[in-house]
Amino acid sequence: MTNEQKHELTSRRTFAIISHPDAGKTTLTEKLLLLGGTIRSAGTVKAKKSGKYATSDWMEIEKQRGISVTSSVMQFFYRDHHVNIVDTPGHQDFSEDTYRTLTAVDSAVMVIDGTKGIEAQTLKLFKVCRMRGIPILTFINKLDREGREPLELLQEIEEVLGIESYPVTWPIGMGKRFQGTYDRFEKKIEVYRGNEESVFIDFDGENVTEELTKYIDPAVIPSLIDELMLIDEAGNDFSIEKVKNGTLTPVFFGSAIANFGVQSFFNSFLNLTSPPQSRMSSNGEIPIDYPHFSGFVFKIQANMNPAHRDRIAFVRVCSGKFERGMTVTLPRTGRKIKLGQSQQFLASDRETVEEAYPGDIIGLYDSGTYQIGDTIIGGGAMFQFEALPKFPPELFRKVRAKNAMKHKHFDKGMTQLVQEGAVQLYRTPFFGDYILGAVGELQFQVFEYRMKAEYGVDLEFTSMQHNSARWIAKDDVKHIKTDSRAMLVEDLDGNPVLLFENDFVLRTFTDKYPDVKLSTIFEG
Ligand code: GDP
Repeated sequence: MTNEQKHELTSRRTFAIISHPDAGKTTLTEKLLLLGGTIRSAGTVKAKKSGKYATSDWMEIEKQRGISVTSSVMQFFYRDHHVNIVDTPGHQDFSEDTYRTLTAVDSAVMVIDGTKGIEAQTLKLFKVCRMRGIPILTFINKLDREGREPLELLQEIEEVLGIESYPVTWPIGMGKRFQGTYDRFEKKIEVYRGNEESVFIDFDGENVTEELTKYIDPAVIPSLIDELMLIDEAGNDFSIEKVKNGTLTPVFFGSAIANFGVQSFFNSFLNLTSPPQSRMSSNGEIPIDYPHFSGFVFKIQANMNPAHRDRIAFVRVCSGKFERGMTVTLPRTGRKIKLGQSQQFLASDRETVEEAYPGDIIGLYDSGTYQIGDTIIGGGAMFQFEALPKFPPELFRKVRAKNAMKHKHFDKGMTQLVQEGAVQLYRTPFFGDYILGAVGELQFQVFEYRMKAEYGVDLEFTSMQHNSARWIAKDDVKHIKTDSRAMLVEDLDGNPVLLFENDFVLRTFTDKYPDVKLSTIFEG
């Protein structure tokens, strides 16, 4: 392997920012893009807030609602690193895609609003990252506002998320009294000066120097020293292994809007996270230096351009080098495909990619060839990367075609869209009613829109109270009694699933049948 190839393998950082709406993800993303020369930017984030439609709002429904349904990728170059930020949609456009995106990244940055603490959506996304065992770094934002006590926030991270925390930086005051942060690794204080650039001063955590008192109010220094001692003695020890396997989160404090603490956070991020690692497949681990190209499809986006009805399959590169025009194999069908038209799918100026390396994400034109979870490989080998997990839906609707004469189109649309992973589909055992399951309301809306636009079918939805789905073993079905509140249905592959009306019904069921194993996530 040449030095250049080695460098390509070690210089990639591919991550997602996870947060609850309004915590500051957009603001932080913009500040990160400012850090580096942006190679390619999707321009999603800003425009939607200013009322103008972002160029990445490909689908008509996005235009109508002024939101971005798709996750896109922003790539920039900073301190000798190729950084890929994979955007996860927030707000009401939360969907299964959001979860799946997290299977394509190597680490995550969790942004927490320091005035609020852990919020619902952060928790959901955190769980997926945790399941994958990837590094999770925490940025506690909005220190320029009066927020919650830092110790209390750390405690909440540990208790609610069940992960150890290690504050790498420590805040000095907050809100109007905010004076800066202390970096425990660098032993430096970054002094907050409002709109002016930060000043960095040395501080060993104990000995008060003249320089220190020049920048930091002497009245707060004793309590800073006490707090630093306390977190040293009572806090967790730092462990890079625990960071790498996602059981300890390094925590940073700052203010994205003031661009304070962002650069030092990101410098640490680059040091604490790893480049892309090997990935499990049906042939064992595929090492990162495996000589041939391989990747997997984690998302399929249909009809980005309504005039062309094209689809784009988003592929995470896992090994080797992608080159435009190369021929790959799709092990699921055995088919060989020439990847002529590929693109770094970026909004208005979708650029064509000539080459890509592990950690990169490319978009491939797709006319129905790919399915979510597909592996594609160069060099003639045959293996499949581990199946992407299905995420348990929390919202359910019965669905049928308004016009019964349209049932052929209805069936075709259902099959195709469900295969694409737009929503989950269940059937009731006797009548074969269709039940759709989603993790976000938007999935139903997009589904309804696409059934009409692409298959000419108007849908009629009946809402359902149910809020959770659990897979059970086929053998267990005959031992249990089900009713409308604990409803037995089948997933697309004929596996039995129970839909529970609420947590109470679920608990009653588990009490009654302690030996029946219920699983939230059905792995492939
Ligand atoms: P997102 O929904 O997570 O992408 O959040 P945004 O980045 O859009 O931020 C939500 C709101 O919080 C906006 O009004 C931002 O201006 C504001 N905001 C973001 N970061 C900070 C910060 O560090 N301090 C303060 N005071 N406000 C912030």
